[in-house]
Amino acid sequence: MIIELKKNTDKKFAETASKELSAIMVETKTSTVLVTPSKLKKLDEKFQAIAEKVIVTEDDIQLAGKKYLSQTRQIKLAENICIGGKTTNTVVITGPCSVESEEQITMSAELCISLGVKILRAGAFKPRTSPYSFQGMGMEGLILLKKIGKKFGLKIITEVRDSTHVNDIIEFADIIQIGAKSMYDHGILKSCAKAKKPVLLKRGFGTTLQEFVQAAEFILSGGNENVILCERGIRTFETKTRFTLDLCGVSYLKEFTNLPVILDPSHAIGYAYGVPDLARACMAMGVEGLLIETHPDPSVAKSDASQQLNHQQFSELYQSLKPIAAAVGRNLI
Ligand code: PEP
Ligand code: MN
Repeated sequence: MIIELKKNTDKKFAETASKELSAIMVETKTSTVLVTPSKLKKLDEKFQAIAEKVIVTEDDIQLAGKKYLSQTRQIKLAENICIGGKTTNTVVITGPCSVESEEQITMSAELCISLGVKILRAGAFKPRTSPYSFQGMGMEGLILLKKIGKKFGLKIITEVRDSTHVNDIIEFADIIQIGAKSMYDHGILKSCAKAKKPVLLKRGFGTTLQEFVQAAEFILSGGNENVILCERGIRTFETKTRFTLDLCGVSYLKEFTNLPVILDPSHAIGYAYGVPDLARACMAMGVEGLLIETHPDPSVAKSDASQQLNHQQFSELYQSLKPIAAAVGRNLI
């Protein structure tokens, strides 16, 4: 249950109510709310006087639910980079899997500028499956990303791998990416909840939609209203492709949550040959964004080499997204 408190509610009384109802008190931009466990279906008489509005929820998808906010949340990165809310913007994010050198990330930034892409992605702390693979440039990479973002006027999204560097990512990134493998890390979720910066939360590949949105609830209930969900493929019985992009799940998220959704076809299929088709299908889903990995020369990429598009392939894909965006009433930014 979500209880929106009346503006003049006595703070002490609100705290008592919160304690008695086992609720989390959340300060939002517009009000103070108490979020109780969803099994509470009826508010006790004695607390009714402080409630401006009571929203009974079916399950613990609460602050993220459409019942609470009927419109998709707006995430504002800059005057000209807004997603969700009243906009119909679909933002394209591109860049390499990992930042590897100044020369490489400069070329990625130049690709963005040449097409009008506003957000550059790259990982500095990589959550690799093997300890013998490239683990990312770490702090050096993060500093490089920040420098190039500033030089080219691009927003930066980069991922947090573990809690040892979460504060550095929060400080350096414009959007904090929580990777599929880190989605359950409560230390990371809680640190990102305290930060006010936008967070892109990727769905773990063995995670149900319920668990995915509940992970987002940790960030929302901790006080950060700027959460974006990212579907990046889940593990199924299929092995020919790396993962299976759950577009049914995307429909569910659009229908039942108030969080912007970004789709990542690159990690889903895992092979560059399928990324353009899949990206166009994602565009047709009418989502808030697409995240597509690109590399100046994918054959020498230090991570996710098989799935990254070269710059020529990405430029062609980008042009082909425009008529699809127009057809589904989206504004490509
Ligand atoms: C990435 O974006 O490079 C990445 C590692 O993604 P995921 O967490 O979805 O595997
Ligand atoms: Mn990657």
